[in-house]
Amino acid sequence: MVVRQLLRAVIMGPPGSGKGTVSSRIVKHFALKHLSSGDLLRDNLQRRTEVGVIAKTYIDQGQLIPDDIMTRLMLNELKNLHRYHWLLDGFPRTVPQAEALDETCQIDTVINLDVPFETIKHRLTARWIHPGSGRVYNLEFNPPKDVGLDDITREPLVQRDDDKPETVTKRLKAYEAQTKPVLDYYRNKGVLESFSGTETNKIWPMVHAFLQTKLPEVSQEEAAPHR
Ligand code: AMP
Repeated sequence: MVVRQLLRAVIMGPPGSGKGTVSSRIVKHFALKHLSSGDLLRDNLQRRTEVGVIAKTYIDQGQLIPDDIMTRLMLNELKNLHRYHWLLDGFPRTVPQAEALDETCQIDTVINLDVPFETIKHRLTARWIHPGSGRVYNLEFNPPKDVGLDDITREPLVQRDDDKPETVTKRLKAYEAQTKPVLDYYRNKGVLESFSGTETNKIWPMVHAFLQTKLPEVSQEEAAPHR
């Protein structure tokens, strides 16, 4: 396959949709740069850059960074990647961000992970802890022997506020309200590709097959860490 153009892609999906896993698999299989707005912000926070200091106040309150700051940060970073295929993650989160991005380049494809609300809720509320010891259980991967009880002390398990169904529902609703206009924006442009399913291991092969038509693959020998 001859790849003529550099791919300009975006990946979207709510928390708990498996976006992190799918993104890391994409990076492992294909030769492209992955740019995550959250990672970039955290890096700026750590280095205490001007943007980092401003961003902290918003992140600490669970708010979005203002569009102009966020857009400047991302577009500046993208300048360094102009010779590569790239995949944006976490950006754009609003229509003004998407519009600003459009002014500098044309997005070819938006990979949208479409996982049912109930599945995500199930995943995100699966964590239970034993407050006394800090032991962590996950109802899917390492459930306690008896529902709701610590294996060793037999004391009751609790959920962190963040993991409680009502908090998770709120978070997912907020994500949906915020992101829907962006999804609609890309749907109208005809570049939205949705991948639906309840398991990351079933969604991944579809994403992989789709990207094979657009990107060169890294040989898995090359991708493997050197011994
Ligand atoms: P994330 O790791 O993607 O959840 O990002 C962590 C935090 O960074 C978010 O809660 C926002 O406060 C901020 N953030 C990340 N991406 C953006 C964006 N595109 N626009 C505004 N704020 C963002």
